Amino acid sequence: MTKVYLKKKIAPRIANGHPWIYANEIDRIAGETTPGDIVEVRFADGKIAGVGYINPKSQIIIRLLSRRPVEINEDFFHQQILKAWQYRQKTGYTENCRLVFGEADQLPALIIDKFNDYFVIQTLSLGMDIWKPAIVKALERIFNPKGIYERNDVPVRNLEGLPQLKGFLSTPFDTNIIINENGLRFHVDIENGQKTGYFLDQQDNRRAIQHIVKGAEVMGAFTYTGTFEIHAAYYGAKSVLGIDISEQAVIQANKNAALNGLEKIVEFKAMNAFDVLKDWGKNGPCYDVVMLDPPAFTKSRDSIQNAVNGYKEINLRGMKLIRNGGFLVTSSCTNLVHPQLFLETIHAAAKDAKKRLKQVTFQAQASDHPIVWGMENTNYLKFLIVEVCDR
Ligand code: SAH
Repeated sequence: MTKVYLKKKIAPRIANGHPWIYANEIDRIAGETTPGDIVEVRFADGKIAGVGYINPKSQIIIRLLSRRPVEINEDFFHQQILKAWQYRQKTGYTENCRLVFGEADQLPALIIDKFNDYFVIQTLSLGMDIWKPAIVKALERIFNPKGIYERNDVPVRNLEGLPQLKGFLSTPFDTNIIINENGLRFHVDIENGQKTGYFLDQQDNRRAIQHIVKGAEVMGAFTYTGTFEIHAAYYGAKSVLGIDISEQAVIQANKNAALNGLEKIVEFKAMNAFDVLKDWGKNGPCYDVVMLDPPAFTKSRDSIQNAVNGYKEINLRGMKLIRNGGFLVTSSCTNLVHPQLFLETIHAAAKDAKKRLKQVTFQAQASDHPIVWGMENTNYLKFLIVEVCDR
């Protein structure tokens, strides 16, 4: 196996267990490598740093799969996926869960979502993509699935020199499935839905709105297939309006409302939420609860400030639609906007809106997307509920 020696002065990051190695951290490569190969990584003093896959085309040239000099083969993937499954079972996730959350499960750049008996996978780097057959085999052996589908139609694959594609990794099946969550049912379109078809990371947070929505008039923006809003109706809201810019998402959301017999309480409309928040702030309807769950605002460090401005603006506008003593339910999935910064941003919005906030709860993503200490980017989802009062 080709050996890669790190420079003497490397970021303590790697020594502390972070699995990414950048090109400028490498001193020399002893031997030939083909992109995607497994290599052994050693510190400058010759001590083993781990084994991982290499891709000189990528900014992150090596991602470590193990800190020990183990052999990377089919069985390695089987064992890792099994371990990831055992963790989910122990933490209470059985039916639907993110089965593998990349780096957090020591399977860098691999995402596997489990929807009951169906599995959706993403292999987001070349080094992981090569192992797709082993990953599929492991899923077959562990779960005997009804279907496996790949949603590799994501732009990050281009950075690795990989094509964007989607399709079956098992015998074809009907990709419109129904899942159960918190006593409700939801249609999931595995083939054409956003990301892997469904946002499992909010599955526990959806329960957190249970008490504040009773008897309330609720507005949700950035609803996707309507999960939060349908939960609100189920938990006793008087009426719920959901807004998303995607016609497809709105059709699916209205179908989901009907699937749960809640179509008389909750309705979804295709509109631009930024416009709605702006217009209604002037002379629009008021609500007891406003819920915001926008897509990520940036992936680049250079535009963190723009993202912060965006959060401040929509939350300020959202607060202005809330009746005195009502609640704001607000999320951010922008990885680079850290939890503290997010809270400060909401606070700044409240000051400008002349509102007083009381924190009901502040949470992260569901624990099937584990936050690994020392790997900041695994702590990405912020979910906040505050009571909003006039000052
Ligand atoms: N709350 C959802 C996830 C929302 S994802 C859930 O838990 O399942 C973010 C959503 O914002 C996407 O559905 C996307 O279509 C929508 N979106 C993006 N830009 C928008 C805009 N300008 N106005 C309204 N919705 C928008």
